[in-house]
Amino acid sequence: MVAELIDGRAFAARLRASVRDRVAEAAPRAGQAPGLAVVLVGHDPASEVYVRSKGKQALEAGMKSFEYRLPETTRAAELLDLIARLNDDAQVHGILVQLPLPAHLDPRAVINAIAPHKDVDGFHISNVGMVGTGQEAIVPCTPLGCMMMLRERHSDLRGRTALVIGHSNVVGKPMARLLLNADCTVMIAHKSSTNIPELARLADILVVAAGVPGLVRADWIKPGATVIDVGINRIPAPERGEGRTRLVGDVDFDAVREVAGAITPVPGGVGPMTIACLLANTLSAYCHQHGLDCAPLDLDEQDPA
Ligand code: NAD
Repeated sequence: MVAELIDGRAFAARLRASVRDRVAEAAPRAGQAPGLAVVLVGHDPASEVYVRSKGKQALEAGMKSFEYRLPETTRAAELLDLIARLNDDAQVHGILVQLPLPAHLDPRAVINAIAPHKDVDGFHISNVGMVGTGQEAIVPCTPLGCMMMLRERHSDLRGRTALVIGHSNVVGKPMARLLLNADCTVMIAHKSSTNIPELARLADILVVAAGVPGLVRADWIKPGATVIDVGINRIPAPERGEGRTRLVGDVDFDAVREVAGAITPVPGGVGPMTIACLLANTLSAYCHQHGLDCAPLDLDEQDPA
């Protein structure tokens, strides 16, 4: 069996188009466009790229983009003051503080200072708690994108056995909670787990977010399983020339593809969905704040085009 490729680029393009259409419908009713504020502290090169991309895609979706670039030495009080102003700003419907923050800033205190209804990353403790108890809330973008792709492939997730490898607050834990909310039977593995291959062989759905290239091998895969590879790893690629690198996921893609039923590639799988889901979350937050019935995508919706 050669697994079907789950094309995250195409899915993300459909999602962005859907968000753009719904922004165009909603903005005249609300009297303003959705506004997304992105705060970057310091000069982490990867964060710079993400922030640029988020701002560009927000504009393309018909939103307003507000970027705040603060120096590495920014004090906690200054950052919290900016967040308080954005919380009160009626033009701003979504606020995102790009992580990681410089070491002297406590990310928990910063994230929890964002008004929960504007927390479009879904990291505020109130959103985390609501998702954890199966309530409607803003869901972190990467797991949300994974769920959308899984729902497109499986019309009913109930009763399926799922393994999530990785238990970070950003990906693994919210992913496992969403699968549990969908009535999957959920296992979570992490770097201290000793029996991951055995657990993986039970899984109809395998979501891998460990940050370890080539971690998941073909003999771990239940034939026909759906494999979602969240990992993004840059590895040396001498075949492309000296000093060159390439991006790979956490899954041994070529071998696993021979056993799985469906698989996301890296690049072109989960990655493109993450920013598209940020736009979807911003639109949801905006609709909610304006009392409009214009939710971007129901997770049960089969065709987001
Ligand atoms: P993290 O470092 O915070 O967490 C890694 C998790 O993997 C931990 O729970 C750890 O226990 C587990 N782990 C590490 N080594 C392991 C091993 N050998 N076996 C089993 N578990 C192991 O990372 P994160 O922020 O959750 O990100 C994970 C990966 O996903 C990274 O490669 C990251 O770049 C990628 N990522 C991608 C997107 C996207 O949009 N595609 C978004 C976020 C993160």
